[in-house]
Amino acid sequence: MAGIYVHIPFCKSKCTYCDFASFPKEIGKTESYFACLYRETEGRGKALKNKVFDTIYFGGGTPSIVPAKFIAGEIRQIKKFFNLAKNPEITIELNPGTVDSEKIKAYKSVGINRFSIGLQTGYDDQLKELNRIHTAKDFLTTCNLLKGENISADILIGLKNQTAEQVKKTIDLALAGGVKHISMYALTPEVGTPIYTDYLNGELLSDDEVADIYDAARSYLAEKGIYRYEVSNFAAHGFESRHNYNYWQRGEYIGLGVSASSFIDGRRFTNTFNLNEYMNAVIYNKTPEISNEEISGDDAEFEFIMLSLRTEKGMDVEKFNKEFSADFKTKYAAAVKKNEKYTEFIGNYFRIKDEYLYVQNSIVTDFLR
Ligand code: SF4
Repeated sequence: MAGIYVHIPFCKSKCTYCDFASFPKEIGKTESYFACLYRETEGRGKALKNKVFDTIYFGGGTPSIVPAKFIAGEIRQIKKFFNLAKNPEITIELNPGTVDSEKIKAYKSVGINRFSIGLQTGYDDQLKELNRIHTAKDFLTTCNLLKGENISADILIGLKNQTAEQVKKTIDLALAGGVKHISMYALTPEVGTPIYTDYLNGELLSDDEVADIYDAARSYLAEKGIYRYEVSNFAAHGFESRHNYNYWQRGEYIGLGVSASSFIDGRRFTNTFNLNEYMNAVIYNKTPEISNEEISGDDAEFEFIMLSLRTEKGMDVEKFNKEFSADFKTKYAAAVKKNEKYTEFIGNYFRIKDEYLYVQNSIVTDFLR
């Protein structure tokens, strides 16, 4: 099964750490953007009729900022032109303060069954510093509108002066809102973002401090029945994200919209990050792709190893051997030996031991050939 990612590039304002394709000043182009998105969806769907898709993910940007009729229209287009499995998981990212009960009702009526809320932190002063558009109270108001639904929350660690205690309190807030899934990412100071200046000024936490906060948060989440299933993702049993799990299995997905990436038939391709360029390409029947590359041989094997080692379960060795007509244990014996302190074989799986998963990057590079 494959996934569909749809990028909605509009936000109310720009957060200080954001380097995603989101264009607060371009929100007036919503209608024309969706006209292009519908068109791209039709073309991609027709070309991929032989594949079955079982997840849809609206990300951004802030997908919830546009009127619900556009999201509904895109789901209708997907249903019309793609081969969708029964009971697809359909997720929408939303920010507190951008939805009301009417909007939620509209989402549910078109089959959206998973809601991913950008919380980031439960502290209003930190939210303000990040230029987020909401308060902690707004988060709870949004959760109330979603009572009984499958809710996920995004949390950031590594904020200026942040403590483990504050992250635990943020987790408490998320759980009080009925959240069953948490994505917890470390703040990355991307070049060109305002937060990068804080980084250059030495104001952000060190890697070791962030790792300590991560460990404290992971233990706390486990105490609360929210288990890690991927290095940055935690869920109550049965609430894992199907859409994201497919990425880590090196499963196929199609990305629709500006900046969206795809992996289909062994090729990775990415649409332009430029909004006007994207819309012009679609209008004039040209490809919006700015890169398209076949991934094969050792590169494909490395992707498979790197992605699956991000998960708690690890890599399915038999699947690897079958997919690449290779013998993992023989071919990667040296890298396995070098990392024997940090990794283990459990049954048919090769995994990174619990305490080292957070530093998996330094381990997986040994599998590069
Ligand atoms: S809401 Fe998300 S996409 Fe929009 S500016 Fe903030 S971080 Fe970027």
